[in-house]
Amino acid sequence: MRDVSLWRAVLGVDKTVVERVEYDTAGQVVVAHVRPTARARGRCGVCRRRCPRYDGGEGRRRWRALDLGTVRVVLEADAPRVRCREHAVVVAAVPWARHGAGHTYPFDATVAWLATTASKSAVTQLMRIAWRTVGAIIERVWADVEAGTDRLAGIRRIGIDEVSYKRRHKYLMVVVDHDTNRLLWAAPGRDKATLSGFFELLGPGRCSEITHVSADGMPFIEAVVAAYCPDAVRVADPFHVVKWATDALDRVRQASWAEARRLARTEPARPRGGPPADAPPRPQTERAKALKGCRFALWKNPEDLTRRQREQLAWVAATDPQVHRAYLLKEGLRLIFQMPLERASPALDRWIGWARRSRIPAFVKLQRSIVVQREKILAAIEHGLSNGLVESTNTKIRLITRMAYGFSSPQSLIALALLSLGGHRPTLPGRT
Ligand SMILES: [Zn+2]
Repeated sequence: MRDVSLWRAVLGVDKTVVERVEYDTAGQVVVAHVRPTARARGRCGVCRRRCPRYDGGEGRRRWRALDLGTVRVVLEADAPRVRCREHAVVVAAVPWARHGAGHTYPFDATVAWLATTASKSAVTQLMRIAWRTVGAIIERVWADVEAGTDRLAGIRRIGIDEVSYKRRHKYLMVVVDHDTNRLLWAAPGRDKATLSGFFELLGPGRCSEITHVSADGMPFIEAVVAAYCPDAVRVADPFHVVKWATDALDRVRQASWAEARRLARTEPARPRGGPPADAPPRPQTERAKALKGCRFALWKNPEDLTRRQREQLAWVAATDPQVHRAYLLKEGLRLIFQMPLERASPALDRWIGWARRSRIPAFVKLQRSIVVQREKILAAIEHGLSNGLVESTNTKIRLITRMAYGFSSPQSLIALALLSLGGHRPTLPGRT
């Protein structure tokens, strides 16, 4: 065939003979008939060792390649089987695609890059594949990254966390590296056995090199860390401590909202259609509505508030002293993590006293947990694990879990999270 090297470059294939290329008008697809070069032929699909041919397998097969302009492209080739000493009868390896994959290497690489960069609908529409297929592709791309790198070498300071997915019914255990701010590992589950899997993977030598472990104080995590890294300094996870305070604040807001709703029921109902000009005011109804709407204003960091949210906050300060005090308690605790240790230590004690006397049940209760965690909270500040990086990794993992609805397996979700946050972000094929 003419222009063989042109077609090899255009299709992004290597160690491949392009026999001929045709345009299938009915299917509106370019079909490139290919075969492996002599050196790449007759190899086990799993280990790539040279093996004797077994049979012709199921005949011709197709692999989706990257589109040419707006036209879909497939590679078509024989898919014979070989008999491997180790892997028995398997389909022979092809140099243009991973074993068992229905897409070429450049196609897989493009999908992996897109999945870590663009929205779900952008990936599925541009590549013309289902989100399920995206999941399968990123799983195999991640498996190759993992096989080719030693990501767990030299880790010293780690954070352990649980992340919910599938609308909060299922959990992943995740481990992040505080020094590089990378996601190191994740697995489905929320128990001792799941977390032990990480330390077993690490092995005793590397476990003994871990100097600091942050966690949210769950007893089962404490037990596993004590068993595998008895000498590591245990610190509180600032992200969780602040989240406890945010949750306590939300309980106070909800209680105030429920009270306003109860009182609102005694106010006169309004007829359908807009209220008449002389309608009596309904202050509790308005209050309930405003309390419902201010949730995000209370939850966000003050520096990130929009103008409207700043107004909502001012309204809370003026009309609901208890919710406003709860807000100040939450913010006070958050700010302690931004202080140097010598200021943070007395500030934390003052905060505990303030919360204890607040007469707000949610914060009196939170204060008790803070007393229990006091040393670990101060250790987090002392060892510099209190920065916003920990929080941002947590937030990003949570965003990925939301994107991952619709994946059929948690392994796809884990692969997407590790590709995005594991320090080995995919690159587009053919770029350096
Ligand atoms: Zn083999």
